[in-house]
Amino acid sequence: MPAKAFTIQLDYSLDSSSFFSEGSAERDRLEDAAAFFEGVITTELTAVPSSTGFATDPSSGGPAFLSLNIAADTIVVYVGARGSIGGGALGEGSSGSFSPVPIPREPGNFATWGGSIAVSTDFTWDASSTNSVAAGEYHLYSLLLHELGHVLGVPHLAEGLISTIYGTSTPQEAALDPTLNISTVKLFTDADIAGLETVGWEIAPIPEPSSSLLAVLACLGLLFKRRR
Ligand SMILES: [Zn+2]
Repeated sequence: MPAKAFTIQLDYSLDSSSFFSEGSAERDRLEDAAAFFEGVITTELTAVPSSTGFATDPSSGGPAFLSLNIAADTIVVYVGARGSIGGGALGEGSSGSFSPVPIPREPGNFATWGGSIAVSTDFTWDASSTNSVAAGEYHLYSLLLHELGHVLGVPHLAEGLISTIYGTSTPQEAALDPTLNISTVKLFTDADIAGLETVGWEIAPIPEPSSSLLAVLACLGLLFKRRR
């Protein structure tokens, strides 16, 4: 059987406020955020054919007890939204637990089946784009990257930590520092990717666009010189 790619299965069954309703821009951005992680994580996970677990219910904040039946190389993330998330937070994201007994999904690494994320309905969200945000609104895609990072086990990085946007040389505050400012886009950075690696995720090697572009430019420069 060919190896399957890492998959984030988004589960809307606890989204009682329909924040991520079918066909919505909110759901599109969530799928975009999941696709980002699917594109960089290469870790192989064993299946969880039949187990029980719990996660934070995104719509209530209470515990949700769950029947788990999860395919290989797949994690499940329950999604939803509610108001008054602790301390006026923009959202929350956390790994779920197995109950009663953790099931290892890969040798020597943490056992995860996924978890849940919630978006606070106390704020105005711009879900229209992955890379721009309206003035006076919060950028949903940025929040979703941050909260999915927590589901994957990454804790907060230092407040204000500056890194570079993953795959570029553009400086930016890390996605997993504790804050997201209004009217601000925060993509995943090298520091956030390092956070994923620190908690055990394997990351696909990426070509470095800046250096390969420089190599191309260097060749062009050579050609131009030779034509003179
Ligand atoms: Zn956070």
